Amino acid sequence: MPGFEVFGEKEKQEIMDVLETGVLFRYEFGEQRKGVYKVRTFEENFARYNGAGYAQAVTSGTVALKVALAVLGIGPGDEVITQGFTFVATWEAIFDVGAVPVFTEVDTTLNMEPADLEKKITDRTKAIIPVHMLGSGARIDEIMAIADKHNIPVIEDTAQAAGGKWRGKHLGTFGKCGTFSFDAVKTMTTGEGGMIITDDEKLWRNMSEYHDHGHDHVPNPGGRGGEGRSFIGFNYRMMELQGAIGLAQLARLDDMIAAQKKNKAAMKNSASRLPGVTFRTLVDEEGDSATFLAFFLPSREKAQTVNRILQENGAGAICFADNTWHYYPKWEHLITGSTITASGWPFKEQDGRRRVLYDPQNLPGSAEIMNRLLVYQVPIKLSDERLRQIDAAMEKAANLAG
Ligand SMILES: *Cc1c(COP(=O)(O)O)cnc(C)c1O
Repeated sequence: MPGFEVFGEKEKQEIMDVLETGVLFRYEFGEQRKGVYKVRTFEENFARYNGAGYAQAVTSGTVALKVALAVLGIGPGDEVITQGFTFVATWEAIFDVGAVPVFTEVDTTLNMEPADLEKKITDRTKAIIPVHMLGSGARIDEIMAIADKHNIPVIEDTAQAAGGKWRGKHLGTFGKCGTFSFDAVKTMTTGEGGMIITDDEKLWRNMSEYHDHGHDHVPNPGGRGGEGRSFIGFNYRMMELQGAIGLAQLARLDDMIAAQKKNKAAMKNSASRLPGVTFRTLVDEEGDSATFLAFFLPSREKAQTVNRILQENGAGAICFADNTWHYYPKWEHLITGSTITASGWPFKEQDGRRRVLYDPQNLPGSAEIMNRLLVYQVPIKLSDERLRQIDAAMEKAANLAG
């Protein structure tokens, strides 16, 4: 997901448009901004690119999840189901609105296992957040069918899969909302930033108001100071410089994905040498944004041995079973209930009773898969030299570990 590799003239030009007016704020400054509305234009272009009705820009992908949960009315007493392989942001947002995260297994798609989702639905389940991890789609048709049957809204965490599709339709457009991140390591980046897309106009209006202190954005003689409000909000506004960069990066997105696809195919070809290797299940290979190459070895021991040899030869892979930011049993602050609040919230009630408890052994199916998993980030710019290095490392690993 390395959009930082391509940052150049387009981005500079968009930024200069903003610097020339000096207006960094997305609202107001009528005359002075000379018609330049970068964040608004970025929203319009992003919605159109994805084939969604509306888009709301915010300050991060974490906030995008929080705003989506908030406008869906999720709060204390509610459960939200997500998966045990995701970035911590997904469940931080759930806790932040006062709800409790419930985790499902992942299958060899490395995304939510639909059968386990259905098992974990209770009367208190008020939203489902499948995550399109590592650039590629979840079993979104099956997940939507289960969600629809139980009448529960879906928020697709598409932070890692901008530009990805399922059967020609963009990821993020299947659920009630799709959320995106443009942080420093995502496929398209604005340094920091996020977006929520939806087809529901009322939901979008509520996002727009909520993310801006409740401002109703209705034109009136008093300007911003004269705007009304229907509910309390917060400040999650994106600034014009981010909107400017976003416009340039969005224009590159399809080219970035095309380059990644080509490079991924070459890297996959190399990895195919490994004895017993199998590849991540892609629900739609055509719609893969190809930001990562993920493969399995027959056992944890084999995966560790192979990766040691790859590392020794300058081509080490990511072992997500050991990664502390993306995998349930490694989230020790969740497991132990560590929080900065004096009351113990969100892990304890006000009277000190434990509100939720997470057992690291809860997801044995995921452990079986994650322990055998090795992953490479696919670069946009892959030099022949680097590819040869990966290839040579794979060959060594195939000979020594086979
Ligand atoms: C990056 C990421 C987020 C959070 O995005 P930020 O913009 O860094 O706040 C949320 N979910 C997933 C799956 C991510 O990878």
